[in-house]
Amino acid sequence: TAGKKTVARKPEFLTFEDIGGQDQPKKELMEALNFLVNRDKIQKLGIRPLKGILLTGPPGTGKTLLAKAAAHYTHSAFIAASGSEFVEMYVGVGAGRIRDLFKEARREAVKLKRDSAIVFIDEIDGIGGKRDGGQHREYDQTLNQLLTEMDGIQGDENIKVLLVAATNRKELLDPALLRPGRFDRHIQVDLPDKSGREHILKLHARNKPLFPEVSLAKVAEETFGFSGAQLESVMNEAAIYAMRDDSEMLSAYHLTQAIDKVMMGERMDRETTK
Ligand code: ATP
Repeated sequence: TAGKKTVARKPEFLTFEDIGGQDQPKKELMEALNFLVNRDKIQKLGIRPLKGILLTGPPGTGKTLLAKAAAHYTHSAFIAASGSEFVEMYVGVGAGRIRDLFKEARREAVKLKRDSAIVFIDEIDGIGGKRDGGQHREYDQTLNQLLTEMDGIQGDENIKVLLVAATNRKELLDPALLRPGRFDRHIQVDLPDKSGREHILKLHARNKPLFPEVSLAKVAEETFGFSGAQLESVMNEAAIYAMRDDSEMLSAYHLTQAIDKVMMGERMDRETTK
């Protein structure tokens, strides 16, 4: 369903403080990114440069947000694409698109006067999925191009390009992508725990007036198993219920209704995709 157009956004757009919960992934990511930030020091010590970071976990847990925050943290240009954009019927087209994506990232960095860029590819399994019996030769070319770009020998502007990729299904990835020296870090991004949920709810309540009776801690308790994306929906739906009631503030009842609605929507999605 992803569009063909690649989107570049200002790296200032989002910071780690805008991401609720996910303390461990944030910490691991920042640690890895410090290699990019301290590039000169790393070089002097003879440590090989960081090539790629793989984020794994269920949908809607903030993987895209983490990639954007990574760009902000490292003062990098940011460019995003979806793995599904690279699967083509004609041999070579996918590989060409990968080349263009990295080229565009370098161009964007030059434009913004940054010396690094982050390329984010969501649903990387679309490119680096396991090959089935050599039938999809196009995959191989696309994947090989990606691996070449990750080796970072292209480009003369001395711009470091880091690949951050995300997948919901690591088990589907081609072993070529999982070999050592490819993705230097594998970071697991799980569903938020209770305090993570409360943090996420608070972030999405920043622009919403709540009745003093409303306890987001209680809402966090009642939303076990919800992703960040679902929690965002809960806050938004609650605001819509408030509007329907002609209320200027969100009440505990609006939130309860919203939780039900999001839970129900999820169930209906599951039924229709069966
Ligand atoms: P997918 O695998 O479906 O691409 P994702 O893990 O990349 O999902 P995001 O796109 O980062 O998920 O999250 C979707 C939306 O959900 C965000 O724009 C944000 O509104 C909300 N969200 C998800 N996780 C968090 C979080 N940890 N903190 C705050 N908001 C979150």
